Amino acid sequence: MKLIFEESREGRGCSILPPCDVPEVSLGEYERKQELHLPELAETDISRHYTKLANRTHGVNNGFYPLGSCTMKYNPKVNEEIASLKGFTGIHPLQPEHTVQGCLKVLKLAEELLCEITGMDGMSFQPAAGAHGEFTGMLLIKAYHESRNDTKRTKMIVPDSAHGTNPASAAMAGFTVVNVPSGSDGCVDLEKLREAVGDDTAGLMLTNPNTVGLFDKNILEITEIIHKAGGLCYYDGANLNAVMGLVRPGDMGFDVIHLNLHKTFSTPHGGGGPGSGPCGCKDFLIPFLPGKRAEGEEVLSLVGSEKSIGNVKAFYGNFLVVVKALSYILTLGREGIPEAAKNAVLNANYMMYHLKDLYDMAYDEICMHEFVMDLGRLKKETGASAMDVAKALLDYGIHPPTMYFPLIVHEALMVEPTETESRETLDEAIQAFREIYETATKNAEELHQCPKTTTIGRPDEVKAARHPVLRAEL
Ligand SMILES: *Cc1c(COP(=O)(O)O)cnc(C)c1O
Repeated sequence: MKLIFEESREGRGCSILPPCDVPEVSLGEYERKQELHLPELAETDISRHYTKLANRTHGVNNGFYPLGSCTMKYNPKVNEEIASLKGFTGIHPLQPEHTVQGCLKVLKLAEELLCEITGMDGMSFQPAAGAHGEFTGMLLIKAYHESRNDTKRTKMIVPDSAHGTNPASAAMAGFTVVNVPSGSDGCVDLEKLREAVGDDTAGLMLTNPNTVGLFDKNILEITEIIHKAGGLCYYDGANLNAVMGLVRPGDMGFDVIHLNLHKTFSTPHGGGGPGSGPCGCKDFLIPFLPGKRAEGEEVLSLVGSEKSIGNVKAFYGNFLVVVKALSYILTLGREGIPEAAKNAVLNANYMMYHLKDLYDMAYDEICMHEFVMDLGRLKKETGASAMDVAKALLDYGIHPPTMYFPLIVHEALMVEPTETESRETLDEAIQAFREIYETATKNAEELHQCPKTTTIGRPDEVKAARHPVLRAEL
């Protein structure tokens, strides 16, 4: 495929403007020193160029995208339409409050409904991503202990089944991370947890369902151990897709949470944003929340708190992502939200059930929204690795599952089908996985050559990440 600059032909264009009929004015020192180097093309060529580029990428609109821990589900177009209404897109954050009452109502109602879903009392929409929400939550916990002059609490307990961003966020907020291992059942080892807590425990950061796709059955005991030691409990709610409308982190004993609106609540995940990772908390932590929140009954206004940790982003975060989340929640309603969660769990278990006679499961029990396969044995017996299977899926038009994560399972493939896939799509994916397994046992060499149908086969992944070539030399 050619670069748009290579397709350019001098004099070609797509604007037909009449000759200038007013005197030309010089901008003096502000004038461009060099001619602007822009490609010259007809509108047809531009449209085809970008359509060709779009066709080379894979998204939920092209096919199945079972990327674990990412919730790559289909997001209803109606929510995009609502978010593109002029009244939402044509506003300015410094506009007088009486002119944006509708938008403030969106913020207030979205906060109320998400608090209802999570069992929290207040929420800030400032954080722009999941990890950003975690960092904000860590700052809340820190501010809480500091407000009580309890300054010896410097340690944050993070189980090894937590998402990788959890220990990073805790460390960024200045805590010392204490790792607690999982038992053979994939849940937090309670004995090890009891040994880890003390009067220096600031809190616990837990991902539930955890990164192996399991709901920790000891959750109430876990939060009690932390509270008894004087710590607070943080819930990584990025994976709320499996539990929304069914159980609430607030009822499990958690004090602070974040959500990923750009996973569960109708904003596509990926592509670099905009996202939203709102941070919610219980009553006693509300004064520490960042930024301002919409308050009032008849007339709403944005109100901040003196004890606030300050801003973590300008104004009220990525507002249009909140609009989409609200639209999604209101269209699904009290019945639709838990039904979506149940279907996400059903789809994951359906796929797991139809693959587990061939592929070893890291934890062979009922999973939540995703499951982890352990390809260690397959690799040992045939030489075909998790990477080979992932690459082979590309030739079936399927985006690979998450690879080599979570770290506690070697040769891991983590599959999250989501609730928006039909049984037919799941059956096709199951068939693809089964055929690849057969190829692995007969001729693993063939899998090392995959993918064969994509534009780029097997790049040097480390080099591509460390030294990306993002600019063409012309
Ligand atoms: C995706 C995810 C995150 C991070 O979210 P970002 O928006 O990518 O920062 C954190 N925790 C869990 C469990 C996740 O799945």
